[in-house]
Amino acid sequence: MEIMWSVGSIPMHFRQNIVGQVKHLPHRCRTPTPGPAMKALELVGPSLFELVDKDVPQPAANEVLIRVKACGICGSDIHGANGSSGRRIPPIVMGHEAAGEIATVGESVSSYAEGDRVTFDSMVYCGDCHYCNLGRTNLCETRQVMGVSCDEFRRHGAYAEYVCVPERIVCPLPEGLSFDHAAFTEPVGVAVHAVNRANVSPGDSAIVVGAGLIGLLVVQALKNAGCSTIIALDLVPQRLDLATKLGATHAMLATQENVVSEIHELTDGRGANHSFEVVGATKPVELAIDGLRRGGTCVLVGNLAAEVTFPLQKVVTRELNVVGTCGINDEVPECVELIASGKINVEPLISARSSLDEAADWFAKLEAGDQPWLKVLVCP
Ligand SMILES: [Zn+2]
Ligand SMILES: [Zn+2]
Repeated sequence: MEIMWSVGSIPMHFRQNIVGQVKHLPHRCRTPTPGPAMKALELVGPSLFELVDKDVPQPAANEVLIRVKACGICGSDIHGANGSSGRRIPPIVMGHEAAGEIATVGESVSSYAEGDRVTFDSMVYCGDCHYCNLGRTNLCETRQVMGVSCDEFRRHGAYAEYVCVPERIVCPLPEGLSFDHAAFTEPVGVAVHAVNRANVSPGDSAIVVGAGLIGLLVVQALKNAGCSTIIALDLVPQRLDLATKLGATHAMLATQENVVSEIHELTDGRGANHSFEVVGATKPVELAIDGLRRGGTCVLVGNLAAEVTFPLQKVVTRELNVVGTCGINDEVPECVELIASGKINVEPLISARSSLDEAADWFAKLEAGDQPWLKVLVCP
């Protein structure tokens, strides 16, 4: 992975000053209320949305208030909205893949000012627990996720005109990067972090099982990491075509006969160095294990099913590494740069742009799942 930022473990809000990507105006005191009410898309029951008027949230001392310009609809929102995951307990304003403009800042915020163009990580971490101190902020003991409500917390997200976000997870945007593209920072971060979990070396081979939105970003992250053989597998031919356009060297239907032996043929007869399972079900996990060479690494990204049948003996006897990945750990500034430079191309992944008014209809269409849509952006 190309290292765009070499400032190690310095906390993000300091780092942004060091890299100086955006000129920060000195902090000014102002009334922290841009208006009395805003429109928000609220989940009020299982798969039931209402466009509501809510008070514009007031930023806490360490938060910024962002005027949302674009927010991607994530698969986890679609599955969460019907109540099955237990992670979107109503009432909740979802949305964790957003970009926008700072409207106002809390009193202790020093790195941002009104008008700054920004995006943010989806995970809110404390910065001071065991894992945060180890530099693994995505494993924070008290982590919260934007736009998620579960038994432990409720934190409203960005399917709204405004959202409050802690300064420490905010990242500035370079000039010329559109809000639409910047809204992909979070899913790009998920893909880049997944690839970072595998220790990829230039010339390595990898298979990507599942060429949906995240899988297509994993393909591009693998290409940037120097993989010379990237094999994409999916059930949908259009997605395989797109995978090839975006950097996969080979693409095949996961259901085709002899799929495993063909993977081995393309990888010196041994199997791939790395595999990425980006679905979260028994069959694709099997494929991700079968396509690996001895000593290879399988990164588990998808988690559609809570449990799968696992090929234990293959993993043990071939001494495979099986690695989980969750969210993003400090890769956000690098991902903004990857998108801005075009090294990760997100434009072909945009299926539609929606207003807040039409967003509930889009949720219904996406839940029906009968079209190969990838990313719908809600633009309040
Ligand atoms: Zn997401
Ligand atoms: Zn923490």
